[in-house]
Amino acid sequence: MTDPVKLTADLIRCPSVTPEEGGALVLLQRVLGEAGFECTRVDRGGVCNLFARWGQKGHPRSFGFNGHTDVVPIGDEAAWTMRPFGAETRDGVMYGRGTTDMKSGVAAFAAAAIDFVRDTPPDGAVILTITGDEEGDALHGTVALLDHMDNADERMSVCLVGEPTCPDKMGEMMKIGRRGSMTAWFTVVGVQGHSAYPHRAKNPLPAMARLMDRLASHELDQGSDHFDASTLAVVTIDTGNAATNVIPAQCVGTVNIRFNDLHSGASLSDWLRKAADQVAQEYGVEVDTKIKISGESFLTPPGPLSDLVSQAVANETGVTPELSTTGGTSDARFIKNHCPVVEFGLVGRTMHQVDECVEVEQIRQLKAIYTRILTDYFA
Ligand SMILES: [Zn+2]
Repeated sequence: MTDPVKLTADLIRCPSVTPEEGGALVLLQRVLGEAGFECTRVDRGGVCNLFARWGQKGHPRSFGFNGHTDVVPIGDEAAWTMRPFGAETRDGVMYGRGTTDMKSGVAAFAAAAIDFVRDTPPDGAVILTITGDEEGDALHGTVALLDHMDNADERMSVCLVGEPTCPDKMGEMMKIGRRGSMTAWFTVVGVQGHSAYPHRAKNPLPAMARLMDRLASHELDQGSDHFDASTLAVVTIDTGNAATNVIPAQCVGTVNIRFNDLHSGASLSDWLRKAADQVAQEYGVEVDTKIKISGESFLTPPGPLSDLVSQAVANETGVTPELSTTGGTSDARFIKNHCPVVEFGLVGRTMHQVDECVEVEQIRQLKAIYTRILTDYFA
């Protein structure tokens, strides 16, 4: 039997802070290769990725797992009570960067896949796509793996992302979609001047205040069938003016939007630009708008895939997971263009924190859940 706890510990000891490979993908390639998986490294743009397939290429029953081995930086090392890359275990809890997000998830699905194809070889294929660029810009991670699959005629029929999805208790939540995310930067340009002679200047700040207030007080929607209401947060307003007797020439305001399936990046961009134009007209200033769409919202409607995962989780944990679309973005936003995708993993409470840790028993439970998903999928 492949021990997912030992594999997690081995992966934790690979210091794979984005974009460093750190030995993590090399280790997985060796372990999966020895188990009969055909492994291809898909390295692009300075990051490393691994594609692994057991079984026939292009088989209409191809179950995919997706995950990442890169981790966020450790922050202040002195603040850790355990070594961040030591994988030390105390009272049944393993500590280290990536223990929850998400080397335990990768270890659990790799161990499940290895034992499953050896013990009960399915009529189909099991595919693992593992990236070293999820926590960074994600330009050359899962996207590169999907490009590789398109070029090589590789296909997943369905995909499970092994990110941590449970807020507090194992089994309580899976994700069937994610909100979209976008950021807009508004630069309001006026005319600099003496604050005692404001008629000779054009102050960009009242225009900025009006614009930010209008955007922040606008109700985008009240939520939809599977999503919470969309939100807009004003995240910073920067003028950098240290002098009290100067009206500044310009000011930058930034908003971040998390949006549901009632909007698209394009529809929201239109709304933002219109609001900026209106304020520019009213105040006689220039407003320059830059927008970055990090991901569109998506939903895999409840159906065969979510049922499969939900039942496996319920059978192994006794808890029926809530089908959620909350939280930040994940690589599922790319995979949804390839095949139906859902996410399930263990409790993510300490992800990205100092002393990130995981209950060892949860790693074993997660492997059992993934094994049951594979068994039921190919049954
Ligand atoms: Zn993650």
